[in-house]
Formats: sequence, structure tokens, C-alpha cells
Amino acid sequence: MTGHDAAAGEGGRPRAAAPSAGEGTRAVRAGLPEPHKYEPTLPGPVFAAHYHLPGDPTGPYTYGRDENPTWTHLERAIGELESPGDPAQTVVFASGMAAISAVALSQLRAGDAVVFPDDGYQALPLLHEQLTAYGVEVRTAPTGGDAQRKVLAGAKLLWIETPSNPGLDVCDIRALVREAHSGGALVAVDNTLATPLGQRPLALGADFSVASDTKGMTGHGDVLLGHVSTGDPALATAVRRWRKVVGAIPGPMEAWLAHRSLATLQLRHDRQCATALTLAHALRERPEVSGVRYPGLPDDPSHAVASRQMRRYGSVVSFTLPDREQAERFLDGLRLVDDATSFGGVRSTAERRGRWGGDAVPEGFVRFSVGAEDPEDLVADVLRSLDALGFTGNGAAD
Ligand SMILES: *Cc1c(COP(=O)(O)O)cnc(C)c1O
Repeated sequence: MTGHDAAAGEGGRPRAAAPSAGEGTRAVRAGLPEPHKYEPTLPGPVFAAHYHLPGDPTGPYTYGRDENPTWTHLERAIGELESPGDPAQTVVFASGMAAISAVALSQLRAGDAVVFPDDGYQALPLLHEQLTAYGVEVRTAPTGGDAQRKVLAGAKLLWIETPSNPGLDVCDIRALVREAHSGGALVAVDNTLATPLGQRPLALGADFSVASDTKGMTGHGDVLLGHVSTGDPALATAVRRWRKVVGAIPGPMEAWLAHRSLATLQLRHDRQCATALTLAHALRERPEVSGVRYPGLPDDPSHAVASRQMRRYGSVVSFTLPDREQAERFLDGLRLVDDATSFGGVRSTAERRGRWGGDAVPEGFVRFSVGAEDPEDLVADVLRSLDALGFTGNGAAD
């Protein structure tokens, strides 16, 4: 029996954990095929541009741009995590942006209107421009205060990003879905920051849960990947067709690495979320730090809504240092934290977000991605680097 046949579902049902199982149990078993003697638990990556295919070209595996057994295993795994008990159809992509674009470009036509957040991921404005060039009307509003609600009338698609990156604002998914659906709009949620262990958009009523799996889902900073999950088979077919049209397919090695990483998702994410809260509390105590945002802080502006729809509050903390120079010195002084973009990885990273120029953030704004280091070590490193700024408490450094 090869991984190919196992993925095709021949020889029995896949061995997913029961829907009632705990999240760690589901994560380690997600997407595993039926066991076959002498086969590995998780079959290795299948490298194939084409498959043996005598006679009529019927699937599941015909040509490598259409399907791959390694994707099938990963898609089942993500589907089980996105929607336990009633696995969502999932389509994996070469990156998060490929997944986002697949939803937007497979659903929107010239003359349609779409609502984007104005504080979302920094490549969304590029998609905005592209859609506008194709004759789609793009409206924007902030994530906070459910402001997108006010510009929904007549829209075909509502795009939500909650918590937003990098500002960590949160909107009420259930309320926005209700409003959007009553006007006939589909709803897609960018769930990158939360991961399916932190938030399940499909259960909250969304039509699509979309993510960059480059971040916390894979968590090691070595893979770019994205996915779209949906409970609607027709929408899944449209997204899958779009993948074929543009060919934005993941490599088998990346897909396999991602599946391997999902086994530790709960371990990683629990540790990272717990340390993020500890770090947010510690930052709150510091005179040179302002604007600490973390949806898990009980008095964060996002906390009330977040606690109604999130199961974990994520691994990202944001805050502001007095100016650009102090933010750069702080980042430079860290020993356990790499000055790098992206987030959700086991190794902490942080960056001065303003360096990219795309986000409406202060010059001293830092987006901090909490990794899996020992919390005491990480917090000590941060406090030491803050101490080294020599802040005097009157708004100026020595
Ligand atoms: C990183 C990110 C993306 C884009 O994902 P890529 O894998 O880099 O293409 C989209 N949305 C959010 C919220 C992100 O953080």
C-alpha cells in the first residue's frame, strides 16, 4: 500500500480522533490515514508531476497541479481542526496570499462590491488595487467597533481579519456574519493570528476560514503555505478551480512539513499564548512602554468581544516605545528575540512595524511574536533590553 492509495481512502477510514477528543489529541492525529502494515504513520511527501493513468483520466490523482496525496492528508488535517466533527473542505495553497486571492478572485466579478478592513495585513492594499483594476468596488473600514458593518449594503463579500495584524483589534464575527448574510454577502475570515485552536470562524457562521499557514499553524519559520476552509462544497469547488487556474500550489515537501508541524500545534500555541499574556502584563509595568495591546489582557479594548469568540488569544503582543530610535535600540539589545518579520514561530521575533511603511502605526510601534522559550528567560531578556534604554521616566532617554 502506498501513501497514494492511503490518501485516496482505499482500505478504510482515516484514523482521526473523535470530535469529542481534546484539542491536543485531535492535533496529533489530524489527517492521519488508515494504518497499513509497513507504512509510516504520516506518509512521506509524494513528488509527482503526473501519476500512472491508463485509460480514462479520472481522479483522484491525475496531474500534479490538480491534486497530490500529500496535500490530501494535510487538507483533511486542517479541515478537522477548523471544524471538528464535521470536517470542512479545505484547499491548501502556496502561501497565505494565494489563499486570500483565491477566495476574492474566484468570488468577485466586475461590478461587485467587497468590504475589506483598512487595518489588515499589509498586502491587502495590493489586492485592493488589483480588484479595483478589474472593476470591483472595494470599500474599507476599521476592524474595531465592527465598523465594516456600516459599508456592507449591497456587497458580495465581506473580508474580516480578527484579531487584526498588527493592531490586534477584534470585531464580532457572529454579528458581522448575521448582518452580511441578511444582505446576501458571503463572509471570509482571515484566521491567521488565532489559528483554528484559537478561533473557529466556520462555527461562528463564516463561509470561509482563510489563513497564512506560514505563521502559527506551521510555527517554525521555514515554510510558506496557506489554506481556505469552507463548509460549502460549491464554494470549495470554486476555490479549488481557482488554484488550478493560477497554479498557486504548495510543494509536496512544504505540505508534508506543515502536516508534521500540526502535531505540535496545541503544545506550541498553548505555551506561546500563555507567555504572551505574561509578557503583556510585564510590559504594562514599564514606564517607557505605551499602548500595550493583547486581546487576552482583561482590560484590553478587544477583550470583551475576543473572549466571546476566541478560545486562545494568540502569540502576538504589540506595544509602542517613545520613538523610532528607542524601538531600534530595544530590538538590537534583545538576545533571545530575532529582529524579523512574520509571527507565530517557536523562536520569538519582533520588529519595528513602521519600517515597512504600509501600516498606520507610530514610529516606535513594535510587533512582538512570542515563541516557545522559557517564559522567565524571554521576559528577562525583554526587561533587560528595556532597562538598557535608560529611560528616565520624563519622556526622554539619558
Ligand atoms: C502573513 C499574513 C498573510 C500572508 O501570508 P503569506 O503566507 O505571507 O502569503 C495574510 N494575512 C495575515 C493576517 C498574515 O499575517
